Amino acid sequence: MRYAVISDIHANLEALQATLRDISGQDVQEVICLGDMVGYYPNPNECVDLCRKHRIRCLRGNHDDAAAGICGTEDFNPVAQNALEWTIRELQEAKREWLRRLPEQLQEDHFLAVHGSPWHPYAYILNTCDAQKAFSHLSTHYEGISICFFGHTHQRAAFSFRNDEVMYIECQDGFTLQEGGCYLINPGSVGQARDGRPGASYLIFDTDSKQVEYRRVPYQLELTMQKVFEAALPQILAERLVLGY
Ligand code: ZN
Repeated sequence: MRYAVISDIHANLEALQATLRDISGQDVQEVICLGDMVGYYPNPNECVDLCRKHRIRCLRGNHDDAAAGICGTEDFNPVAQNALEWTIRELQEAKREWLRRLPEQLQEDHFLAVHGSPWHPYAYILNTCDAQKAFSHLSTHYEGISICFFGHTHQRAAFSFRNDEVMYIECQDGFTLQEGGCYLINPGSVGQARDGRPGASYLIFDTDSKQVEYRRVPYQLELTMQKVFEAALPQILAERLVLGY
């Protein structure tokens, strides 16, 4: 079985469309989104519609929670807060309701999928120390789960736990899972890359070959930028798309 794992779309319609086009040529049976479908960019309603149309199995992220009224916006930075207030005004009630009903995490035979971390959806896994905490949480609360996909940082990353050691996995285009290892894997962000390279990032997980393949998809970011200006969203949101940060 081949899964596409995407995350952090953030209402960037051009990025989502390009990603779904790319996925359609990859012999993928199921698409999972690790949350933050909305927030930051100007097409929250359209992105929710597209996720539903493509039957993407979506989790709720922190921006989705704020947009749906599950949490407030006070813990977000000023740019995110500004964009969230815009999103709350623009988001149609039916979309808000859909977001509200999404799960916080999902579990398959092979893996767990979360937004930020297995112990809390808003926590970040940024380094081997955070990864250590995640691995011990997995071993105590999720028996038999050896793979956890996470998002929230908008950066591709992978960590392994083998022979009592947590390692950061250097992976340009992907890697193969080793027997007996535990893994934490982040596909990067569709709508707002923060790893220094513009374009949408996602991954494909093949449960038979145990391979993880990262893919980066170029899209018309000039169009997204134009829409940011027209919606009077913070300009920095447009500028950072070019830098991939
Ligand atoms: Zn996000």
